[in-house]
Amino acid sequence: MLERMFELTDKIALVTGGNGGIGLGIARGIGQAGATVIIVGRNAEKSAVALRDLQSLGVRAESLACDVTSEAEVQRLFADVQARHGRLDILVNNAGSTVRKPPQDFTLDEWNAVMDVNMTSAFLCSRAAYPLMRKAGAGKIINIGSILSIFGAPYAPAYCASKGGIVQFTKSLATAWAKDKIQANAVLPGWIDTELTVGARAQVPGLYERVLARTPAGRWGTPGDLAGVAVFLSSAASDFVTGTAIPVDGGYAVS
Ligand code: NDP
Repeated sequence: MLERMFELTDKIALVTGGNGGIGLGIARGIGQAGATVIIVGRNAEKSAVALRDLQSLGVRAESLACDVTSEAEVQRLFADVQARHGRLDILVNNAGSTVRKPPQDFTLDEWNAVMDVNMTSAFLCSRAAYPLMRKAGAGKIINIGSILSIFGAPYAPAYCASKGGIVQFTKSLATAWAKDKIQANAVLPGWIDTELTVGARAQVPGLYERVLARTPAGRWGTPGDLAGVAVFLSSAASDFVTGTAIPVDGGYAVS
């Protein structure tokens, strides 16, 4: 009974940025719980490697190319999902990036680029997923925020704004679509070892040590640390959980 609560067999899931880092960690988790996982990214080589990784774990996986900041490409992506599967049960809005510099040095183009990939893409994908989830009779949306949905950082004004925004966007989705049995929740990863944070560590002196010293768990996270919460939020176990923002941070937010 308990196992079946977390069972994702026959579910179709789409993970933006599922070809690396946290997205791949989530794709591994929900795929191993039984879902067919469509990973979405721009880099074909990275997607091919990720696909082999998932298949080697016995996951039914596919990859589709899409720049999730483009309305036209997102429309094509979801039309493709409709044609292949006729439904979508789980959407993980995970694609993200950043520009690291103080607010006074930001150009408008840099600001817009970060907002587009971290926040507007979640709106575009959620809007496109809605008819497919309605057709499936239910749905789960997981938006990836950040510990910087809560805290500020002097080198990340657009990132912090977009990650704060994604939490409020999640609440709006939750209230609008609860009647359709669609739950929307945000996950706020703490400091996780990925390509994104390799960049942060290179650009922000002392970051690695500061994070380590402040994290009660005494370590940086790994992409695998996000798998459990993603399975929970994708499954029947979370059917009465919506509009929340769950930190997965080794205790960073409360220390
Ligand atoms: P990575 O840089 O490792 O992965 C980002 C992924 O997003 C890549 O797979 C990339 O694929 C994809 N992506 C980026 N832009 C686009 C685009 N325009 N269209 C489609 N796909 C895109 O980062 P992480 O795994 O670390 O980050 C994943 C999410 O988690 C992000 O939203 C990030 O903000 C968030 N996060 C990360 C934390 C960390 O400590 N690592 C902490 C808190 C939040 P491709 O290059 O093929 O397009």
